[in-house]
Amino acid sequence: MATYWSRYRSVPIVYRIGVAFVLGSLFGLLVGEPATALEPLGDLFVDLLSMLIIPIIVFTLLMGARRLSPSNLGKIGGQVVGLYAITSALAVFIGLAVSNLINPGEGLEGWQEAEANSAEAPSVQEVLLGIVPENPFGAMAEGDVLPTIFFVIVFGLALALVQETVDSEDVKNGVETIFDIVEAGSEAMFKVVWGVMEYGVIGVFALMATVFGQAGTDAIIPFALLILTLLVASLAHIALVHLVGIVGLFVGQSPRGLLVGGKDALITALSIRSSSGTLPVTMANADDNLHIDESVYSFSLPLGATINMDGTALYQGVVAIFAANLVGVSLTIGEQVTVVAVAVLASIGAAGVPGTGLIMLTLVLTQLGLPLEIVGFVAGVDPILDRLRTMTNISGDLAVTTLVAKWNDAVDFDSGTWVPSNRN
Ligand code: ASP
Repeated sequence: MATYWSRYRSVPIVYRIGVAFVLGSLFGLLVGEPATALEPLGDLFVDLLSMLIIPIIVFTLLMGARRLSPSNLGKIGGQVVGLYAITSALAVFIGLAVSNLINPGEGLEGWQEAEANSAEAPSVQEVLLGIVPENPFGAMAEGDVLPTIFFVIVFGLALALVQETVDSEDVKNGVETIFDIVEAGSEAMFKVVWGVMEYGVIGVFALMATVFGQAGTDAIIPFALLILTLLVASLAHIALVHLVGIVGLFVGQSPRGLLVGGKDALITALSIRSSSGTLPVTMANADDNLHIDESVYSFSLPLGATINMDGTALYQGVVAIFAANLVGVSLTIGEQVTVVAVAVLASIGAAGVPGTGLIMLTLVLTQLGLPLEIVGFVAGVDPILDRLRTMTNISGDLAVTTLVAKWNDAVDFDSGTWVPSNRN
């Protein structure tokens, strides 16, 4: 018995969830309506995920503030962070644009009564004003994502600033202690996340059995379309923004140089689904093949692996449209602007490990008032989606690093895999 259990546990959780997704779907198709009796088991999974949203935001963003100490925000830091933010926002736009064209999720429309009422959707102005919480604890208690994020970022940067500028050792130690506690808290929260994901095997089986029990074969197409949408959007983003835009236009080199030079990192990302896990390879590629100076990549790549996730941001936009289509509502322009803001912040908060983008989905869905069950549905195909987004994340880190290196005269374009674009 024990050996079966340890063999089961040795299979990565995403694959087990993938299998649960397939088996749950088949079960639903075979059994039909009675399979919907499993619904409470699926609901439990959703409740467990909801429970984690606010603590995850608080802990992960405070960790981010610790890494991004004000003294690192010098010239290079400003360029790197600025470009990371711009490219992530562009990624969400591309994700939304491609999704608006392909409209994944349409086939399952009306699968659940729309709880999101677009008539009550806030205007852009309301969204922007709503970012500042009147009472941060109230925002957390209500589960208001955006104001919570805003407050935590402000608090985190203030902590880092205090640590840098205050003379008192006691205060410095106090800040260090807060950051240590946050780090421990964040570790603990991710343990809880993975615990919840263990239950996710049952939860996703139940969710899928319920969906297919209700909708029958009509439910297959939306998932195929979701994967297709993410594939098209990711490739479009890599091609247009990273390769043609940044490398071709701004750096003035052949995009092929980046692809060939960074191919080990891109392939590793595709296989292990973790930006952080890929980091040593990304750094080796930046150094050995792209001939970028350590002064830039030693800062930009580790930072990028934690805060720059174009693929993860883009995915949030794609799933937002998928989710809206599932419940049969359309997102207003104001809501899509909200998606861009929350998706960029969620991608910053997501750790560079497999599957965090999926957890961060809860932020976008909560913000839009869309059902969290979507996380469970998407979880089943997430092993595929995660590969695409992690590869896109790494491609973004390398492209931005190259541009910042060029601006700071920290790259040798005469060697390595580089070929000037006019010599093509
Ligand atoms: N797996 C992604 C990464 O490490 C994060 C995500 O789940 O979106 O870059």
